[in-house]
Amino acid sequence: MTSNGTLTPSTEKGTDWIARAHRDHVLTSWSKQSGPDPITVVDAAGCWFVDSNGNRYLDFLSQLVNLNLGHQHPRLVEAITEQARKSCFIGPTFANEARSRLALELDALTPGNLTSSFFTTGGAAANEAAIAIARAVTGRHKVVARYRSYHGASAGAMTLTGDSRRWGLEPLTTPGVVRMLDPYVPGGGNVDDPRYSAAHLEEVLQYENPGSVAAVIMETVTGTNGPIVPPPGYLKSIREVCDRHGILLICDEVMVGFGRLGTWFGIEQFDVVPDILTTAKGINSGYVPLGATIVGAHIRDVLRDIALPAGLTYAGHPLACGSAVASIEIMKSEGVVENAATQGARLQRGLEELTQRHPSVGGIRGLGLMWGIDLVGADGSPLIPFKGTPEQSAPGLAVVKAAKERGLWIGRQDSVIRLAPPLIITADEIDLALSILDEALVHADEAV
Ligand code: PLP
Repeated sequence: MTSNGTLTPSTEKGTDWIARAHRDHVLTSWSKQSGPDPITVVDAAGCWFVDSNGNRYLDFLSQLVNLNLGHQHPRLVEAITEQARKSCFIGPTFANEARSRLALELDALTPGNLTSSFFTTGGAAANEAAIAIARAVTGRHKVVARYRSYHGASAGAMTLTGDSRRWGLEPLTTPGVVRMLDPYVPGGGNVDDPRYSAAHLEEVLQYENPGSVAAVIMETVTGTNGPIVPPPGYLKSIREVCDRHGILLICDEVMVGFGRLGTWFGIEQFDVVPDILTTAKGINSGYVPLGATIVGAHIRDVLRDIALPAGLTYAGHPLACGSAVASIEIMKSEGVVENAATQGARLQRGLEELTQRHPSVGGIRGLGLMWGIDLVGADGSPLIPFKGTPEQSAPGLAVVKAAKERGLWIGRQDSVIRLAPPLIITADEIDLALSILDEALVHADEAV
């Protein structure tokens, strides 16, 4: 027993101690620590997890939109065990088979001249490295980032982040971050309006002195603050503005890389190749922490003569790299990206039908297997532009609660219901989720 009387696992029967120990001794991300006890997950497989009360949930959020291969994929678990037997850790300056194999895989999988990778422990660290590299390579210091964005919780990545999570951490620590608007108008509206297009970037640059700007960073398709799918031509015209001023384009595919949108990388659907691509979550479904900052050959060339301004003890951790090599091989042999495209189309069709039936649904947005349902107020307007009042949040919370009671695990950001199932999802599981959503949305209809 610990000093405050908590029973230790060895002295208490059952599983109740797990949630209690979590509540008292684990600090939970982005939450008030007085919040409700967490669900204790005691078992998980494929798209499903089970809590300590025996409730089964269809994980329609892939945990943190990272578990693309689902829970406990047997081949991936086996490959990690195998890699652990071969090599658990070799420092990043040595060559290691798993690390070299993964680097070659990424060179082959990514479009254009993206060729060399700096491996990190996750998404924020990948973005930190991207910014440091962009600054070193260009000799400039400013970075343009968008408001509706999340780039991670470390100091620099949080300074890039535009969403309200940044407010609690202000004043932020990285000087030189400048913000621009996103190609999204709440409640619809004309995204061709210059305020939301590449012309807006050009205007921001003119105020900021384009010669001082190292990089523009944006999520290819916005994740936690979206989904925001860029309008046709948007990313290409952003690329053109960057090229005109010698500014590097960084696409953050931490959430959408590795099949989430129905293609290996999101950029494939927008006909654009950034100078730097960052990725993490789906690279190995989060089974071992890993991220990557993948740079173009032209950047790799400059880095021959200047020191890489980034380094981590766990850069290219063999266990993480080995798991990613295995994960990519599983995704190829099991047609996982193709399945994401097929089931994504099925989900989209089902959501379009729900839009017709439920007055609370203003519209849907997304791509592949990442979708958002926009809930609207009684006047048909979106409930919340960013952070809402408790009354504004109520319909979304009611939908999430009703879905959970029926065994469907979904997410919510402001007035958007978020859906992102594992990419191995079946047609039957998509249909089950749609029928539960149909029942759950009735709880939001009551407010309209
Ligand atoms: N970038 C994007 C687009 C993300 O969605 C996230 C996490 O959700 C991050 C960066 C940060 O990744 P991590 O939590 O692995 O540091």
